[in-house]
Amino acid sequence: MYTLTPHSHLPTLPRLPRTFRATATSPARTSTAEPPRHLRITTTTTITTPAAANGSSLRSTWAHRAWVASGFFSVLSSLAKSVSAAVESGSAFEPLLAAFLGYILADLGTGLYHWAVDNYGGPSTPIFGPQIDAFQGHHRWPWTITRREFANNLHALARNVTFAVMPIEFFATADDAAVHAFVGACAVCVMMSQQFHAWAHGTKSRLPAVVVALQDAGVLVSREEHAAHHRPPYNSNYCIVSGVWNGLLDEWKVFEAMEMVVLFRFGVRPRSWSEPEFEWVEATGGVPSESSNC
Ligand SMILES: [Zn+2]
Ligand SMILES: [Zn+2]
Repeated sequence: MYTLTPHSHLPTLPRLPRTFRATATSPARTSTAEPPRHLRITTTTTITTPAAANGSSLRSTWAHRAWVASGFFSVLSSLAKSVSAAVESGSAFEPLLAAFLGYILADLGTGLYHWAVDNYGGPSTPIFGPQIDAFQGHHRWPWTITRREFANNLHALARNVTFAVMPIEFFATADDAAVHAFVGACAVCVMMSQQFHAWAHGTKSRLPAVVVALQDAGVLVSREEHAAHHRPPYNSNYCIVSGVWNGLLDEWKVFEAMEMVVLFRFGVRPRSWSEPEFEWVEATGGVPSESSNC
């Protein structure tokens, strides 16, 4: 038996210095402390140029727009089937409840996914590598998300939504209003989560009034709540739809417990334990930061 101990109270598990090789303009920091050989980890991290330095990387391409269009087509077709089935059955309560459940669970899903890509794997990880790289880049240059064009920001999730929703829609029966409502609402919230995330990095005075109102009401993740994710110890507030799960997950130390399970089962430490190493810390110096406006 062992007790799950939050990582902030882990006296027997020293934080391991890692050796980095930076290949861009970011200053490289190389740890000189030598841990015992059996505990030594050498990680090579390639830090790419911030997207702001390359404006074209923030723009939407036709491929991005096509994926976003297919994502919206998938969720709208799901929601349309739900409305049609609800009208036919004369009951809207079940599909509305299912849609609300989809919205609530989408927040939890984004939190789990965000935690996973923030903490494990790397740019060369199969399938998820580009997302892991993007999330790490976001921690270095969080303000770039506010300058990313809509389809550029959403296309990766829109592609996943397309591949996930299409088969469900194909096999679900047309008269099941609740199933279509749940799938459509959950999928659209997941797909839009990167836009909600971008708004959480926005400056209040520059955001549409309706977005600020929804953030203030807790319908969308708030700027204050998400700002805490970008501050030490970089291990809280992972959910980016409404943020309704953040308090519960952080208070119950759910992610810390999962990190302990991963450590004991696979021997892999989460990246957040290595903070404040530079891959988590926002880049400063010469590059204007807007995240402080959160
Ligand atoms: Zn993050
Ligand atoms: Zn962020």
